[in-house]
Amino acid sequence: MVVINSISKGIVIDHIRAGYGMRVLEYLNIDASCNTVAFIMNAVSDKHGRKDLIKIENITDVDLTVLGLIDHNATVNIIEDHIIVRKIKLRLPETVTNVIKCKNPRCVASSESGVPHIFRLVDESTKEYRCEYCDDIVKAGEGL
Ligand SMILES: [Zn+2]
Repeated sequence: MVVINSISKGIVIDHIRAGYGMRVLEYLNIDASCNTVAFIMNAVSDKHGRKDLIKIENITDVDLTVLGLIDHNATVNIIEDHIIVRKIKLRLPETVTNVIKCKNPRCVASSESGVPHIFRLVDESTKEYRCEYCDDIVKAGEGL
């Protein structure tokens, strides 16, 4: 069991699938030089075996769209004055821009620079997204 000091204000992203924490951190693009970030890898979890966990001090506002896409089973707790003031359940976003990249070489998004990569959710149960331009299907969590 890993024990981490609690934070007075910030955000705790818990139950991240083990090995995905680094990716979450990258996408959140937190400036680690101005914010205290605690990143725990492979912590023991009662629920899912192993998990990653991230605590970010002083930030209570993160891009949950991206988070929901990378790992929608993660839990997000917003903390103020040492108390959890909000628990957020993540879901797969309907539309994502410039997070999933289209890999079809004939697609306008991959062949021309400056074209945003836009994907729309097709099926929540299979986590499938479709490219706005070429209709290629990508599964969330694969190649992300
Ligand atoms: Zn495409």
